[in-house]
Amino acid sequence: MPELPEVEYATRIARDACVGKVLASVRALHASPRRTLPDAVAETLAGDRIVEVTRRGKHQLLRLATGRTLHVHFRMTGDWRVTRSASIPARFARVVFDFTDGTRLALDDSRALAVVALHPPGIDPLPDLGPEATAESFDAAWLVQHFTGRRTPIKPALLDQRLVAGIGNIYASEALWYAKIDPTCRVDGLTKTSLAAVAAGVKRALRKALDRAERYYGADGASTTGRFNVYDREGGGCRRCGVAIVRITQAARSTYFCPTCQA
Ligand SMILES: [Zn+2]
Repeated sequence: MPELPEVEYATRIARDACVGKVLASVRALHASPRRTLPDAVAETLAGDRIVEVTRRGKHQLLRLATGRTLHVHFRMTGDWRVTRSASIPARFARVVFDFTDGTRLALDDSRALAVVALHPPGIDPLPDLGPEATAESFDAAWLVQHFTGRRTPIKPALLDQRLVAGIGNIYASEALWYAKIDPTCRVDGLTKTSLAAVAAGVKRALRKALDRAERYYGADGASTTGRFNVYDREGGGCRRCGVAIVRITQAARSTYFCPTCQA
């Protein structure tokens, strides 16, 4: 599931593929995206021009010359594919954006869970989203403010996008390994020093993945997912102390951690 670094990478692909271009047509090819982008709404996009593509958390926002915003959320398996308008859409193409210059940006999504929605001018499509995980405002003070009186364990708490935008299951585990914090620790039991370590761990994990995305951007078949420290490494040696990485389940998701460093 794409998290902040992967969506940042995708945002660049979309930006390169469509900023400054005029839409010839937008078509949803599957019932799922039609729920949020009905044909009658998609048709109104013809003739509009894309002026900016930005990322916010795991979301992409395509700003249009008319002031409207196309909100794209990949969720599980969404990805972009850039082709020619004349080509036959790929098997899992769910929404195709055709431009007047003969190019196409297609949303590929095997699980068909991605969301594409059009918002009118002046509307914030993401009003409940917390600060960016990489932002300065995401710090110990912010975490103290939000964790006071809450009893949830730290790892599932980090997945709440209202607390911090862009973190998913992979980087939550990675961040807590950098922070040397037990993922099962209750948030109300963490000191301000520990919470500062959590915020720093989040930024470090994301910085590493963003740097990788930066290095590989434009390279063929590049992936932003590199060598993880704990994620998907059950039984592997901790890169700090050598002890076997443990996997547990929290809120129905896998959590990976070092039982020694993160005790
Ligand atoms: Zn360790």
